[in-house]
Amino acid sequence: MQLTEYIRDIQDFPKPGILFKDITPLLSNPEATAHAVEKLLEKIGDQQVDAIVGIESRGFFFGTLLAQKLNCAFIPVRKPNKLPAQTTSQTYALEYGEDTLEIHTDAIKKGDKVVIHDDVLATGGTANAVCKLVEKLGGEVMQCNFLMELSFLEARKKMENYNIQSVITY
Ligand code: 5GP
Repeated sequence: MQLTEYIRDIQDFPKPGILFKDITPLLSNPEATAHAVEKLLEKIGDQQVDAIVGIESRGFFFGTLLAQKLNCAFIPVRKPNKLPAQTTSQTYALEYGEDTLEIHTDAIKKGDKVVIHDDVLATGGTANAVCKLVEKLGGEVMQCNFLMELSFLEARKKMENYNIQSVITY
């Protein structure tokens, strides 16, 4: 099965000049979704994982499925003021301005082995900020796991210290 057949290109979304990779055709097909989960799991292998940290919002779809398969915790990272309990936050630079992400402070214990998951690795700003969040709480980032990587944006350059794995590379 070719997963790329279930990824749709949307021109000029969310801004002019951006070619957006849309995963909704993939999510609408249960066989393709199951195949994507298997491919993501292959990237994780048989290492011990205590938690999958999924990034709002498209990292939640496959993140929860991965955690269920690995029999480990799923932990959401969200935009500010969405999580109800005490949070730890990390601010990171965007092309114009900055953004902040939050995690529940009690979600990760010192020494927990964590895999971070999102649908797309683009510039790496988001995933890098989530690595910092996990580390602030004492967690160990075992892998950053993505369905797709936009390699021309060179995220790996700013994430040299992390193990980056992606199923599809553009
Ligand atoms: P980055 O911080 O690496 O530049 O951007 C990654 C974040 O933006 C991810 O949370 C990802 O969901 C979202 N993103 C950026 N480009 C795309 C895209 O083409 N398709 C999808 N589905 N998400 C994208």
